Amino acid sequence: MIGIVVVSHSFSLAQAAVALAGEMVRDRPVRIEVAAGLDEHTFGTDAVAVAEAIAAADSGAGVLVLMDLGSAVLSAELAVDLLESPHEVRLCAAPIVEGLVAAVVSAAGGVGLDEAAAEAADALSGKQSQLGEPAGVSSEALPGKQPREGADASPDAEPGDADLGAARATFVVTNAHGLHARPAARLVTELRGYDADVRLRNLSTGAGPVSGRSLSRIAGLGVRAGHDVEVTATGPDAQRAVDGLLALAEKRFGEYAAADRPPVEAPPAADRSGPYPASAGIGIGPAWQLSTPEYELPDRPDGPPAEERRRLDAAITKARATIRADADRAFRARDEATQGIFEAHLLLLDDDELSEAVGRRIADGQAAATAWATVLDSAAADLDRLPDEYQRARAQDLRAVRDQVLAGLLARGAEIRTRPGILVAADLTPAQVAGLDPELVTGIALAQGSPTAHSAIIARSRGIPAVVGAGPEVLEIPEGTTLVVDGGEGVLEIDPRPRVLDEFVARAAEREAWERSAADAATEPAITLDHSLVHVAANVGSVADAAAAVRAGADMAGLVRTEFLFLDRDRAPTVDEQEQVYREIATEFGGHPVTLRALDVGGDKPLPYLPTPVEANPFLGVRGIRFALARPDLLRDQLCAMARVAADHPVRVMLPMVTAVDEISASRAILEEVAPADLSIELGIMVEVPATAAKAAAFADHVDFFSIGTNDLTQYALAAERGNGALAALADPLDPGVLRLIEMTCRGAGETPVHVCGELAADPVAVPILLGLGVTELSIAPPAVPEIKATVRALDLTTCKSLAARALRCTSAAEVRRLA
Ligand code: PEP
Ligand code: MG
Repeated sequence: MIGIVVVSHSFSLAQAAVALAGEMVRDRPVRIEVAAGLDEHTFGTDAVAVAEAIAAADSGAGVLVLMDLGSAVLSAELAVDLLESPHEVRLCAAPIVEGLVAAVVSAAGGVGLDEAAAEAADALSGKQSQLGEPAGVSSEALPGKQPREGADASPDAEPGDADLGAARATFVVTNAHGLHARPAARLVTELRGYDADVRLRNLSTGAGPVSGRSLSRIAGLGVRAGHDVEVTATGPDAQRAVDGLLALAEKRFGEYAAADRPPVEAPPAADRSGPYPASAGIGIGPAWQLSTPEYELPDRPDGPPAEERRRLDAAITKARATIRADADRAFRARDEATQGIFEAHLLLLDDDELSEAVGRRIADGQAAATAWATVLDSAAADLDRLPDEYQRARAQDLRAVRDQVLAGLLARGAEIRTRPGILVAADLTPAQVAGLDPELVTGIALAQGSPTAHSAIIARSRGIPAVVGAGPEVLEIPEGTTLVVDGGEGVLEIDPRPRVLDEFVARAAEREAWERSAADAATEPAITLDHSLVHVAANVGSVADAAAAVRAGADMAGLVRTEFLFLDRDRAPTVDEQEQVYREIATEFGGHPVTLRALDVGGDKPLPYLPTPVEANPFLGVRGIRFALARPDLLRDQLCAMARVAADHPVRVMLPMVTAVDEISASRAILEEVAPADLSIELGIMVEVPATAAKAAAFADHVDFFSIGTNDLTQYALAAERGNGALAALADPLDPGVLRLIEMTCRGAGETPVHVCGELAADPVAVPILLGLGVTELSIAPPAVPEIKATVRALDLTTCKSLAARALRCTSAAEVRRLA
């Protein structure tokens, strides 16, 4: 694929243009390098930086360079001379924003340098035709496959095309804003996959025909919602191209389900384009955005104006650091759309006009918080009045920034004041989800996130339906809009029509009835049709969870995530504090085993008072048992508290992220030091590292049980970070590669029991496969216990074994899901 370099005087401008263009090709990221500004804040261009960017962008197919103005062009020309190794480079005179969007879409479609350059050069023509201006840029035919401009638009094939195949169809565009840039980009990307010459015509206005390979020409068709579009195709793939386009049109070119669309079945994980299912259940209610908490603003300042100004500046600095970290995280996740949002928020924090207006109010005697809120509210209200919908939606950005600074000024944490309805947010921290009241919050829709992130896990454990990775558009849903979240299927319906809403209400009622019948039998054991007992345990993260798990019918606690005791505080809990909480959890389970996992921090679970070292890849760093053994004092205290409880309750101790037998010996030595000699405590390990699965036989003699953590095992096996929304489709734990590791664990374990405590155990599709592979205990979020018990009762182990054997032979997670 060709690479692209953006040369600009402004770093922010280039970043924002890249983020916008990235929106068009979310599924097929294109290599784009930026050489912009002398640094993040100083305007200028640097030929050496441009040359470096060209070298970095070139993967062998050449590099297209887009520049803003003046010295950017000179620097780019000089950069070509400075290149140390040969690179095929095209400097393109296209306008930077439109040109970049067109070039990125072309590049994602796999075209060569010439065609991408021509597409970029032609990028203004759509805007010009819409505004009725003569084209200022040549729209000569592109190299390669040519649209037959001026040819008869008849749907029939031309003579001579018969052997190539020809196809025609019409479709109605139902996207609320017609074929605007993003759906048009999806259309072009789709068509580039076929060997066919495709043309489109707007039957409602008579515009066209234009090539289906040209984003700018399609934009020039002016297709609005409700317009009829004709598609004609010739060539070997003509019919497939038309079918593909119709299927895409039916899915609204990947945009949101709108009012009149029936709820869609979740497509196989590998080819989804909507939100991801994260916590099963149907939630219905009014939308409320996280960024609109209610604050009590002070009537008068705490101190003189200079002091108030200093407090404001400190709060802005703090907010800037948080937003910068959010933007960096999005950048690392290659989520350019989200990064763009945060970059825009940073620009708002630095807006001189806003700052001066706030300063005047503070000088006039207002409290900093009140001045800040008043000025930003008034700016947001101005935007609310604009006729353009997109500009109106920017008000939401102002409010987000307003709240972030107010949180610092009013010394409020990021905890959420729960409101009734569906919570919509960019992302949530585990602590924020943990603080929600499930009686009020009927669902969660996150723009970012992934189903195995800890916030999603907590949503499941709290029984709150959730979808994640829904895209930044959800942040623009107006407050109070009726939403439906189907967290099992990954569907988000925005302002559904009454018919659709009624369907969901009926489905929710059906599900409730089924859940009631499963709940009635939940305290009974889960025994398969061929009489094998499967323990269905619970994953808990607090005493309240433990109580809920027992109410839900859990046979025991298969995983107690003890981190909850260590997070959100400024020093580690004492042995006594820990003992008390572990004892309360064990008491809830009334004599049934309780599996206490040693502290598992690092990666996405940092400890504020014991920061892990700065690591390039924290998930591959000092986390889990590695962290615990690096802080033996902490581990000793924890094992001591566990041992005290084990004297009175059936406690199992479990070590996270184990990779080496030595880690078990070292931990066992500490446990033996702190536990009375006559007390025998089961010690087990989590299988989260692929190597541990592969060498399970080597561990079998050293442990009493294995518990497979499929969340981490999946991320390590598939090299797909669990919190990275962009990889959520790839990171399906039913990937046959992950199943093979589970099979190796069960085989290597011999007689040692193997449990699964990752989220996969709560997936009814996965349960028969896991049991077929040899797993004997499933540990899951408490609300899922009745359903999984009901699922187990309908299974027969012989059938499960044959299903598991077939699943291991599949080539993809999607195939496994179809099989199951
Ligand atoms: C897992 O990795 O599957 C697991 C259960 O541990 P956690 O989700 O707490 O990392
Ligand atoms: Mg884990």
